[in-house]
Amino acid sequence: MAETERRTMTSCDFLIIGGGIAGASAAFELAAFGSVVLVERESQPGYHSTGRSAALYTETYGNQAIRALTVGSRAFYDGVAGAGFSEHPVLTPRGVLLIGRDDQRAALDHAFQAGSVLTPSVRVLTAAETLRMAPMLRPDYVAGAVWEPDAMDMDVHAIHHGYLRGLRARGGRIATDAELLGLTRRDGLWHTETRAGSYSAPWVVNAAGAWADTVAALAGLAPIGLVPKRRTAITFDPVFDPERTSPGQAGMPHWPMVCDVDETFYFKPEGGRLLASPADETPSEPCDAQAEELDVALTVDRIEQACLFSIRRISHRWAGLRTFAPDKTPVVGPDSRSEGFFWLAGQGGYGIQTAPAMARTAAGLLTSGKIPEDLTALGVSAEDLAPGRLRAD
Ligand SMILES: Cc1cc2nc3c(=O)[nH]c(=O)nc-3n(C[C@H](O)[C@H](O)[C@H](O)COP(=O)(O)OP(=O)(O)OC[C@H]3O[C@@H](n4cnc5c(N)ncnc54)[C@H](O)[C@@H]3O)c2cc1C
Repeated sequence: MAETERRTMTSCDFLIIGGGIAGASAAFELAAFGSVVLVERESQPGYHSTGRSAALYTETYGNQAIRALTVGSRAFYDGVAGAGFSEHPVLTPRGVLLIGRDDQRAALDHAFQAGSVLTPSVRVLTAAETLRMAPMLRPDYVAGAVWEPDAMDMDVHAIHHGYLRGLRARGGRIATDAELLGLTRRDGLWHTETRAGSYSAPWVVNAAGAWADTVAALAGLAPIGLVPKRRTAITFDPVFDPERTSPGQAGMPHWPMVCDVDETFYFKPEGGRLLASPADETPSEPCDAQAEELDVALTVDRIEQACLFSIRRISHRWAGLRTFAPDKTPVVGPDSRSEGFFWLAGQGGYGIQTAPAMARTAAGLLTSGKIPEDLTALGVSAEDLAPGRLRAD
């Protein structure tokens, strides 16, 4: 699908740096207001974090700002099927069980209190109820769970490409193999050099994921203090002991996602196998992240302690970067130190599930200085997201 912008100089209203979910969704929203060019360093826009996620939409994950952005994204995802965005629904039912051992009861209580604020369907389950829903767990391991029935699997590929297709349909352009090399402000415009040509625009949107502080440095701006953190994932076929009474694999496609309430592991069905992670958060330089042997071994160990199955062979392993601001809230807003420079960064582990609300927030702030009312009603606020909160601007 890659299409390379080969012009020597192009001007537009909004130049978006980065073609992951953040850049693609913001570019789509902004294309309703003006001309947009999206520049992406790689030949494929989803090569980094966006193409490596666990693809779960959960309203009980992250801090209050994240939850508001997630809940505020649901209507968009529920409404796009058949609307030229995706041929099929982009969300499908999964459900999440946050499980705990006896020594984790306080964490389960906390998860229920925090989760039920915006998502009243969240329920507390006894050990017996948990095991009925998750028969692969060891009965002597689990003491109870918090059940979020409306958590969904996301079709990340369909969402990302729906946004990119929609951007083109609105007249936007996508330049791949177009690494941004330099940014200079002159006569009220940013002048940019990329490997695919030069661009000028009054507004630059920094949606460069793990590289957002690097892109700011190209504009001569101080970093926000974003920290990319590596997260590992594997897929495998679970093997049950034929000597024991086992729930078998027949129901596996319908198993819920199971997460340790203290986020030390999770697993969920994915493409006929199980996808699992040790929920690692190892600080990293921005890079093409790779899975480390130790993190793969930790995944296997933690999941085998909790489950009746064993993991004999790993089908696929990968890692990606989840990039956080120090307060774990995304950074969305204009940089008060530099005219025309807009941050859309720090998506952390929630960038797909929050993308519609974050993109609409960015477009609202850029075009009218206001966040859409349906999002402010949920508690999304410009102050919480502003880059200035993280440094003395
Ligand atoms: C294992 C794992 C599991 C996850 N699970 C979930 C989940 O279940 N649900 C969820 O919502 N989120 C999840 N996430 C988080 C989610 O993937 C990220 O928050 C999201 O993809 C971030 O999107 P982004 O567009 O900011 O970054 P990216 O997708 O990394 O995009 C940034 C782009 O900017 C480009 N770029 C950088 N520098 C330049 C430059 N100088 N010039 C041009 N282009 C540049 C890069 O090439 C890159 O393509 C998970 C992440 C991981 C790693």
